[in-house]
Amino acid sequence: MTRIAFIGLGNMGGGMAARQVVGGREVSAFDLSAAAVAKVVGAGALGAASVADAVKRADVVITMLPAGPHVRKVYAEDILPNAPKTALLIDCSTIDVDSARAVATQATTAGFRFADAPVSGGTAAADAGTLAFMVGCDEAVFADVEEALKPMARVVIRAGDHGAGQAAKICNNMLLGISMIGTCEAFALAEKLGLAPDRFFEIASKSSGQCWSLSTYAPWPGVGPQTAADRNYEGGFAAAMMLKDLKLAQEASARAGATTPMGNHAEALYALFDRLGYGGKDFSGVLQMLRGQLDTLKA
Ligand code: NAD
Repeated sequence: MTRIAFIGLGNMGGGMAARQVVGGREVSAFDLSAAAVAKVVGAGALGAASVADAVKRADVVITMLPAGPHVRKVYAEDILPNAPKTALLIDCSTIDVDSARAVATQATTAGFRFADAPVSGGTAAADAGTLAFMVGCDEAVFADVEEALKPMARVVIRAGDHGAGQAAKICNNMLLGISMIGTCEAFALAEKLGLAPDRFFEIASKSSGQCWSLSTYAPWPGVGPQTAADRNYEGGFAAAMMLKDLKLAQEASARAGATTPMGNHAEALYALFDRLGYGGKDFSGVLQMLRGQLDTLKA
């Protein structure tokens, strides 16, 4: 039986570790939060006392941590010194490309196989095992990465070499942040022009304005499929998370000398929404800021 060490059992990692159990793997799980460990143990994993304890017999080590500094620290201090050299190391956190490449270099220099494999899909997809993984790794390692991620995945795509998974993730989410704001602006303008939101939805979702933010994730309550808008923007993909990804995109853009003014605007708008106290709301709630209806989010 494949032995998985799973480090980081938060909103995403908890569900992902449970999917590995369902997939028939032996899961040794650790998080700084004892409550998070207990929940995953309840789903059939073995609770570990530390990262070192979790990884010491692992075939595969999976990390799902908040940000780059956490990943760098856990790898340097706990995983690389304690995991067997045969272990395949996969980081699924969303982190900056530079950190991903630095950790990849440390891991491969120490003799490990490594992949950055951030995910698309929120906590519902993590719980259901239907995440999309974008992977940066050596071509020769990809088949093993795909096999390791299978119980958690709807799709696993190799983006390129180390860091390419993170690059794909931040480019995708920059596009998503921009398209959501564009969709919200169009709804807000339609309202001012006296156009009913459901009419606008029906027309635009069959016209050239069609995009995922409109057709699948419509930000106007009661319009289109059931979305976070129908739960007063609770659950879903938190605006603070979108802001984190947009910041990563802008930092990467500045370092690479790319021109991304719309990404820059999207970051500023989500930063404002977050500062106003709505970082915990779904990112489509930015509609209510653009309509001047932020009070409705408090209900
Ligand atoms: P989270 O904050 O709920 O979970 C992170 C977990 O890591 C926490 O339980 C924390 O205790 C643990 N942790 C931190 N330092 C640790 C250490 N040294 N050792 C062991 N555990 C440690 O975050 P999340 O929502 O699960 O997100 C995790 C990653 O996935 C982030 O990079 C995020 O950007 C990305 N992501 C999140 C979503 C989402 O919808 N939540 C979607 C896609 C990607």
